[in-house]
Amino acid sequence: MEDRVSAPRTRAQGGRGAGRYAPSPSGDLHLGNLRTALLAWLFARASGRRFLMRIEDLDRARDSGAGERQLGDLAAIGIDWDGEPVLQTERGADHEAAIRTLARAGLVYECTCTRRDILAAPSAPHAPPGAYPGTCRDRTDAQRAVAREAILPRIPALRLRAPEGVRELEFDDVVLGRTRGDIDDFVLRRGDGTVAYNLAVVVDDATMGVDQVVRGDDLAPSTPRQILLQRMLGLPSPPEVEYGHVPLVLGPSGARLAKRDGAVTLAQLRERGVGSGEVLIELATSLGLGAPGEPVTTARLLERFDPAALPRAPWTWAGPR
Ligand code: GLU
Repeated sequence: MEDRVSAPRTRAQGGRGAGRYAPSPSGDLHLGNLRTALLAWLFARASGRRFLMRIEDLDRARDSGAGERQLGDLAAIGIDWDGEPVLQTERGADHEAAIRTLARAGLVYECTCTRRDILAAPSAPHAPPGAYPGTCRDRTDAQRAVAREAILPRIPALRLRAPEGVRELEFDDVVLGRTRGDIDDFVLRRGDGTVAYNLAVVVDDATMGVDQVVRGDDLAPSTPRQILLQRMLGLPSPPEVEYGHVPLVLGPSGARLAKRDGAVTLAQLRERGVGSGEVLIELATSLGLGAPGEPVTTARLLERFDPAALPRAPWTWAGPR
């Protein structure tokens, strides 16, 4: 008999990997957010990973206190996490260091385009729809200085210099299967000085040891850009990092569930007499992990969870029963 065990498939089996949930604190979580968080938790715990929390508070126009309320709501439905939640605004030094690393390698350029400039510019041949047309990509130092002067007091945004001729990238998604998406010279730091989502997410996931990203499938189109950035920064990327993009929740109108659909947050549902236990039952039922009305706990759902049996279609929330 061989006296060795098979090599761990991912870092998680060695006990060091982590999944995460990373809400933007723009208000209370609604049922769609809670369902995504529950799935991220189930995927992480079912694979023996740690589960980490990150509040993506880089955008200033935030509802102060929303982050705390979101954490309270996640705890109320039985989601737990390891360690203290990470605040993205406290991670600026690492974000800037990553931009400097890319800049030293010649992979960053200044962009003075406004949204209107980008829409008005002719798109590059074979470029994916909506891709940055490359207006500022090949400027000389002198041209750049003039352009910078011309937009004062605005400051230029910073863009990634994507590899020449690479317009798309494919990855394996544990929910969607093989998935392809576009790549362009996306923004790393905006003209208002705020670090862009794609850069922050990649740097923070790597620093936190995240090797499993489960999130809403509205973010699947961002993943190729994030993988490109991981590779350019020498950070772990697929297959070492696993991605799973889960179906969104639809509201009664058939569009993506939103706050305007009414009773969609735990606080609103509580006002209608629907407690967090009942919300968990709804979520469990929607995932095929419980029967309508059957009391459940997240621990019980974890015993039943089988990623392969996850419903692939969006779930429609018609309102409280
Ligand atoms: N903060 C993002 C959101 O709330 C999610 C980011 C991610 O999971 O990568 O939409």
